[in-house]
Amino acid sequence: MAELEPVIGLEIHVQLRTQTKMFCGCPTGFGEPPNTLTCPVCLGLPGALPVANAEAIHYGLMIGMALGSELAPRSVFHRKNYFYPDLAKGYQISQYDQPLCRGGQLGEVEIHRVHLEDDAAKLNHAGSSGRIHGADASVVDFNRGGTPLAEIVTEPSLRSARQAAEWLRLLRTTLRQLGVSDVNMEEGSLRCDANISLRPAGSDELGTKTELKNMNSFRFIERGIDAEIARQSGLIEAGEAVAQETLHFDPRSGSLTSLRSKEEAHDYRYFPEPDLAPVVITNAMLERARQALPELPLEREERLLGLGVSAESARLLSWHGETGAFFDEALAADAGAPPQALANWTAELAGRLDGEDPGASKVTPAALASLAAMVEEGKVTQGAGRQVLDRLVAEGGDPAQVVADEDLEAVGGADELAPIVRAALEANPDVAEKLKGGDMKPIGVIVGHVMKETRGRADGGEVTALVRSELGLG
Ligand SMILES: [Zn+2]
Repeated sequence: MAELEPVIGLEIHVQLRTQTKMFCGCPTGFGEPPNTLTCPVCLGLPGALPVANAEAIHYGLMIGMALGSELAPRSVFHRKNYFYPDLAKGYQISQYDQPLCRGGQLGEVEIHRVHLEDDAAKLNHAGSSGRIHGADASVVDFNRGGTPLAEIVTEPSLRSARQAAEWLRLLRTTLRQLGVSDVNMEEGSLRCDANISLRPAGSDELGTKTELKNMNSFRFIERGIDAEIARQSGLIEAGEAVAQETLHFDPRSGSLTSLRSKEEAHDYRYFPEPDLAPVVITNAMLERARQALPELPLEREERLLGLGVSAESARLLSWHGETGAFFDEALAADAGAPPQALANWTAELAGRLDGEDPGASKVTPAALASLAAMVEEGKVTQGAGRQVLDRLVAEGGDPAQVVADEDLEAVGGADELAPIVRAALEANPDVAEKLKGGDMKPIGVIVGHVMKETRGRADGGEVTALVRSELGLG
């Protein structure tokens, strides 16, 4: 059987960081007492009239610009009708055939569209602890109902779970830089559905897809997609058909359960929302959105490459916004280390923080910049620099002071280092013989000896040069 290729598209729901809801004046908020942020509009009471939130449209335009989408001069809200307890109105107000933004691209992934809609309420399954009339109960919190959402739909450009999770990181960083959303996955302000199908590698046709619903962490997304790819492969290899359906991934058990067979668009009986005028985008609105655009991750990547930073470092510093912002501040401190050295030290710091924002650590950008400069100038060796960084991470402070306190200044120059090298050669006469005979392999023994004597404060290259000159090897 031909090798199977996964084809993955994502639908990302982004809660917009507006003060008020999409179609009413209720404040948006997370963690307030249930059903305190509601009004007749977001509770779907008869006669209540919606008004579109201008700030949500502004954020939608910023997202479209950041993704390089075509912005519709006129877009229309539709009613998407379905019955579910978390939907007070009996329909969601969304955009259907005239979305705010069409097309676009972010990194290697093509964007299909971006549209605005309102969020459903939150259904809490109280289970047997909340039994009503003898049945397990679910209760509804309408605080979230009506929160503005931007739904970003990609083309099926992704080919692996890994790639999907990585790209989502780029999207999340982009949205955070834009300031349009908290992008907090635990609180549900960024939720992701994945459409997954398999086809013979190299084929242009699309297989039957399934939809994985509502994943809210990068790890679950990667595991969920992998589990679904494995499930579909198993079916296809056994000669069975993949059914079009919506699935839920349970991260605890790693299992997939079917929620429902997939609806078609006509099941929702879309029709234009009669209570809302079409959204007409003016030049003033476009100009305001353009003015509000900050430097985006891929632009930062370009800028860093222009500074001579390696591709690997540029990606790390751009796709992880907080780490990149820290680097920019360290660079602005202008302590004298070249950008690549500073990028390496920033990566070194990020590696010690286990995902924590470097800006929230005890190490200041200026301290890191001055450490990088001290290493660059040879005042401190690379190894001793790492020791200094360990102490800065634990206690903060000034690297020069740490170097003084812990006596970590580099041992250098022939005066200081030559006697130590000489002693190392004397202590290892057999190694010295081999080196003299032209076999340089055991030189590590001598370098190691010197490093031990100097507690890592000597420069390896300088030690090697001194060994050669001591032995008359030129
Ligand atoms: Zn309301």
